[in-house]
Amino acid sequence: MKKVYIKNFGCQMNESDSEVMAGLLAAAGYAPTDREDAADVIILNTCSVRLSAENKAIGKMRELGKLKAKRPELILGFCGCMAQKHQEALFKTLPFLDFVCGTQQIRRIPELIEQARKNREYLIDVSVMDEYPVDQSVAVREGMLKAWVPIMRGCDNYCSYCVVPYVRGREVSRPLKDIVSEVRRLADGGCKEVTLLGQNVNSYGKGLGDTKATFPRLLEHLNDIAGIERIRFVTSHPKDISAELIAQFGQLPKLCEYLHFPIQAGSDRILSLMNRKYTAGHYLDIVAKLRDRCPGIALSTDIIVGYPTETEDDFQKTVEVMRLIAYDSAYIFKYSTREGTAAAGRTDDVPLKVKEERNQALLALQEKISAEKNQALVGSQVEILVEGASKRNPARMTGRTRQNKIAVLEDAAALAGKSIVKEVRRATAVTLYC
Ligand code: SF4
Repeated sequence: MKKVYIKNFGCQMNESDSEVMAGLLAAAGYAPTDREDAADVIILNTCSVRLSAENKAIGKMRELGKLKAKRPELILGFCGCMAQKHQEALFKTLPFLDFVCGTQQIRRIPELIEQARKNREYLIDVSVMDEYPVDQSVAVREGMLKAWVPIMRGCDNYCSYCVVPYVRGREVSRPLKDIVSEVRRLADGGCKEVTLLGQNVNSYGKGLGDTKATFPRLLEHLNDIAGIERIRFVTSHPKDISAELIAQFGQLPKLCEYLHFPIQAGSDRILSLMNRKYTAGHYLDIVAKLRDRCPGIALSTDIIVGYPTETEDDFQKTVEVMRLIAYDSAYIFKYSTREGTAAAGRTDDVPLKVKEERNQALLALQEKISAEKNQALVGSQVEILVEGASKRNPARMTGRTRQNKIAVLEDAAALAGKSIVKEVRRATAVTLYC
């Protein structure tokens, strides 16, 4: 049996695409391996969101080129967002590549490999489609307890710094019945937690021609599936969150008390330059409504520091919003120009040193807030879905609470795969010890 090694870079959507690739290749007779030296085919599923991610993938492929120089029969494929973005140019940078496959042509990977094997020619397919481009049901997942479930692909928002609409294409929703049947199948196989994936799940259903296929309706359908205990979703654009969706928190028992809700900046001037289409005030109103509806809801966010023209005053507005909201966790990034985006037309004028200082200041602030929020949970009871042995200390078990916090448990080996209620004994900024 031939072996394939798929290395994933980037977000959950890429992880999910890698699972589909693994399924398609299993059907074509390929067994998975995590050893490069044992593989007949190596695929890099790449990310374009930051320059550092691109450099990493190019560096990795150059390394694999050396392996191919020793084993010319090895097939090397470049997939994902970088493949869609750089297309034929990749063959110039990496002349030993066998094929380049864009984000919407995953289903062609087995065929591209076969052609590469026969003809040893450069092969590329980066064409785009109007309909939902992959059959998600073939995905092969590592564990069965939790699953990513894509519900849409692409994005129509064109935030000025973001490359996603250019590499993932326009927004296309997956038919509701396909999602529901996949989640039923997952539940039958023992899955207890699903995370619905989309660049902006709030606009799910657009273009499906079915007025009943909305995101809140989809959540209701999934909430009815026996065996599923927890439902989460990412990502939710603040401009599109509806009153109906807010109302689902605290109403649908399986919808977890957790929302990833990217604000990106606290300054209205910067938000407008980013083309985010909301103000900090509007965002704060939504947070107030969410907390009113579901007082225990945990919130996480994404923030970019050092967007072109960001002044100290703009930055302090971000600090103020972070203090006001007190997120449970935050992903903080330094702005970097992405070729082809609207922001690339602006001078990247915030010095790296200033970006670094702002980044560090927000990381420190968030750590303090996260520690305080977790500390406040000490003595309370939390529900934990036990996942398996802790990587740091295999004698302990680890899992997540409904609020998406990492929990570490002693003596819980027999409870893997079960939901249990435990008291929080102590806490750090990132972990609850129960
Ligand atoms: S909503 Fe904005 S940040 Fe998110 S994927 Fe779309 S363009 Fe990028």
